[in-house]
Amino acid sequence: MLYCERCKRLVRGETCPACKKARFLRAPEAGDPVLLCTLRYAMAAMVEPLLEEEAVPYSKVALGAGALLGGSTILENYSFYVPYGAYEGTVEMLGGIFAQDEEICRALREAADETNA
Ligand SMILES: [Zn+2]
Repeated sequence: MLYCERCKRLVRGETCPACKKARFLRAPEAGDPVLLCTLRYAMAAMVEPLLEEEAVPYSKVALGAGALLGGSTILENYSFYVPYGAYEGTVEMLGGIFAQDEEICRALREAADETNA
């Protein structure tokens, strides 16, 4: 398992699936922020309280401008990042809680570079 410093995600192969390069790959360290999943607003709103409840030191990044609808940004997507040291446990927790939710399970697999595995 390698870590792409540029995309902040775990990589299983020889090149990062996001930037298609190998030069930013290195062994992950416990404090590295790792992409947990990218979700639509509605899904992010279900995942975020769980991360808070479990005291996972996550960070959330809004992607794209989204459409401004009356001042809200409900069409945005969000990427969640957690430290590498907390990553496995967090994936297990969310994968268990949302085992029946295809969208969240797929988002977790995609971020973990498992979609072609
Ligand atoms: Zn990359």
